[in-house]
Amino acid sequence: MINRGRLEERIERLGRIGRTPEGGVTRLALSDEDRQAQALAAEWMEQAGMSVYRDPAGNLIGRIEGMDREAPPVVIGSHIDTVQNGGKYDGAIGVLGGIEVVQHFREEGLCTFRPIEVIAFCEEEGSRFQSGMFGSRALAGMTGEADLELTDGRGITRREALAGFGLEPGRIGVQAVRRPGEVRAYLEMHIEQGPVLERAGAPVGIVGGIAGPAWMEVSVEGKAGHAGTLPMTMRRDALLGAGEIALLVEHICRSYPGTPVAGTVGRLAVLPGGTNIVPGRALFSVDIRDIDAIRREEIIERVRSGALEIGDRRGLAVRFDERMKIDPVRCSPAIVSLMKEKSLGMKLECLELVSGAGHDAQIMASITDVGMIFVRCKDGVSHHPAEFAEPADIALGTELLARVALELAAR
Ligand SMILES: [Zn+2]
Repeated sequence: MINRGRLEERIERLGRIGRTPEGGVTRLALSDEDRQAQALAAEWMEQAGMSVYRDPAGNLIGRIEGMDREAPPVVIGSHIDTVQNGGKYDGAIGVLGGIEVVQHFREEGLCTFRPIEVIAFCEEEGSRFQSGMFGSRALAGMTGEADLELTDGRGITRREALAGFGLEPGRIGVQAVRRPGEVRAYLEMHIEQGPVLERAGAPVGIVGGIAGPAWMEVSVEGKAGHAGTLPMTMRRDALLGAGEIALLVEHICRSYPGTPVAGTVGRLAVLPGGTNIVPGRALFSVDIRDIDAIRREEIIERVRSGALEIGDRRGLAVRFDERMKIDPVRCSPAIVSLMKEKSLGMKLECLELVSGAGHDAQIMASITDVGMIFVRCKDGVSHHPAEFAEPADIALGTELLARVALELAAR
């Protein structure tokens, strides 16, 4: 069995770096706190027998050789950057769990056929340069100049921040990128960040897929007017149209019961924005997520045509602009069934669920087979100082991670 006490202690120690007065953690990518956290993680990687380096994208990589040095490695990863005032488990348990797996193998004298790498990806959260999963995207060959030109709140570019870490971002293409076939499999353990496992009374879950978000910007154009003199029957109130469309998003997404379909209007601006003015214009965001790309298109189409009908009925011009679309990802069926088999061996109830949040695994799926393990978290809370996962649950997830990694690295 993996060493639960050591893992617990490391989670606590890492959680002290960037601790906030509210008891949360702020550890933005490529900050001083991130530098300290990476140094500590690197020290633990070395204790586990790994050779450690940073690639030009700021990914911290520990590697232990297998019997065949040339064989594509099994990679275990996640991230140690956080959102502003986030928790100490999001991301961290995946990286520290990976280190624990390798250290455990070493202590047990287990030498695998394939090398194993543990990666702490740079800026998964996107809380510093507002563009997340940077490290995994760089590794998968999906980043470009635009990613390096992004600035943080103080006007520092990501390129400058990487250079400040002694890295050469210009070398990402030649030194960081891995091509399909160069990685045997990617495994990630993460807290669930939702209430499903807790509700089911299951400490650990196996992720079947990761939902992909589609973001749209919607503009509703009516006519502004005086709140006292414009009769109710003659109004073209843009906010009322927007409100009706937001309710439609809810109605449509709830019409797919039992599926991980989610629709959210999270941002709304009303113009001109006066207590005594009938709203002339409303701008809002729509986020639609699903695990099934075809069904997501069907939902978007239903929302769009329903919104145009609402616009017609209310005399409003409605326009949709697509802002971002990330494909949903299916975890490898072979890894999912391997996880089920190993969890049965541990007498764990194997609950399969989907991830509504994005993870580095989603990016890694473009170059290799991926598998994800979720660990139950208290009240489904995450990105908050109150984020909490039981050490016993994390230990179970890590043990499952170890058994799956051992099998995947065996041949
Ligand atoms: Zn995370």
